[in-house]
Amino acid sequence: MQFSHAKKPHLTQLQSFSMSFRFQIEARDGKARAGRLFTPHGEVRTPVFMPVGTVGTVKGVPQDVLEELGVEILLNNTYHLYLRPGVEMVRQLGGVQKFMAWDHPILTDSGGFQVFSLSDLRKVTEEGVAFRSHLDGSSHFFSPESAIAAEIGLGADIIMAFDECTEHPAEYARTQSSMEMTLRWAARSKKYFEEHKQEVPWFSRGLKSAASFDQPLNGAAEQSARQLEKQVPRRPEGLLGMTNEKNCNGTAEAAPLQGSDAVQGEGRDQGVGQPGEGQTQALFGIVQGGMFPDLRRESAQRTVELDFPGYAVGGLSVGEPRPMTYEMVDSAIRFLPDNKPRYLMGVGTPEEIVHYVAMGVDMMDCVLPTRAARHGLLFTSEGRITIKNARFAGDEGPLDPNCRCKVCARYSRAYLRHLYASNELLAQVLNTIHNLAFYVDTMEKARQAIRLGEFATFLSGVGTPHRAELSDQ
Ligand SMILES: [Zn+2]
Repeated sequence: MQFSHAKKPHLTQLQSFSMSFRFQIEARDGKARAGRLFTPHGEVRTPVFMPVGTVGTVKGVPQDVLEELGVEILLNNTYHLYLRPGVEMVRQLGGVQKFMAWDHPILTDSGGFQVFSLSDLRKVTEEGVAFRSHLDGSSHFFSPESAIAAEIGLGADIIMAFDECTEHPAEYARTQSSMEMTLRWAARSKKYFEEHKQEVPWFSRGLKSAASFDQPLNGAAEQSARQLEKQVPRRPEGLLGMTNEKNCNGTAEAAPLQGSDAVQGEGRDQGVGQPGEGQTQALFGIVQGGMFPDLRRESAQRTVELDFPGYAVGGLSVGEPRPMTYEMVDSAIRFLPDNKPRYLMGVGTPEEIVHYVAMGVDMMDCVLPTRAARHGLLFTSEGRITIKNARFAGDEGPLDPNCRCKVCARYSRAYLRHLYASNELLAQVLNTIHNLAFYVDTMEKARQAIRLGEFATFLSGVGTPHRAELSDQ
């Protein structure tokens, strides 16, 4: 891995991909980039670490505290929300942002990874994946179409194509055929999305407005608005397969509004919680290819040919040694377009995430800071702390003297150790708040260093990345 030592970041022009979603690179330092994502529910400064709110909550942390911490985007898991409370319930409640009272951007995964990692008795075919719920053993089926339907119903700002996360280790031939299927699934995901993207819960507000626009519409939009009054909602039957959920059948107000770009949200208020009229989600493609650099390259190139507004690198941090992770990330990223956001899924430790930023990654997520916190493992500017350690029993000092979070401002290590030893709920809450603050602060420093052209110096001060004990749990 090489890092440029360029001292002068330079600004680039605004990059526009769709009216509903834009990515703007504002500064560069070496391969690292600092910029902004513009989504229907607001802006996100990049590079960004996205806390994981699996079932619509970052475990133990209320949404107002996430806002105080400076969190700008969360990840939710489609698989979990699909099983409970169900996609249709979330749709009826206005979408996942409204449901969880988080008026900011959200990203959902496609459910693929959870199906592969959590469910029993899964059966993968070209059509999709049959699986049993880890909650009650009920039977379900995800195809690229039904997974995207679920993601549209949930209504996150950024959604992911349905992919197969290749198991590790896997032979070359098996990895290749899995990668090929993920490419076919990516094309099916995109096709379904393009045909149904107007069904997102918060689009209907815009539909009504679009149909009664005072200002003249261009030809396509006008025609669409007329069609809109005639068309009945079109939804595939039994989209979500063998479930007993009444998903996606004739309940949406939104009919397809073809050619509606003319009424999409360019120039509209990107303000919090107020998606512009007629805005839609952004669907990202996912690069697979296991632990083979040539397959990573091919997957990247062919996914790019499908033309998504952003690209993820998936199937990593699945048990491989970390140098191999870096090699695979590099193998994929060099074939992704410079002007679109790059999302590395499921990584990493604080040291690792800044190294991924150095490689040109813009977005990351991981359960590590939250899960480790619940196990009493805390990341600090002075290294890792296992708070249950007896040496903290009488320690009056803050968890991290260099941390500005409310936990470090108020509580002592002795008290945090006592809470943890007593198995108190507050231990999990406070530990999680601190770990998230540390990650948020780390990314803030990374962004600032890129803007100042001092990223190499920042990187050298972060230390050598190594694998955290809990990173793959
Ligand atoms: Zn703190």
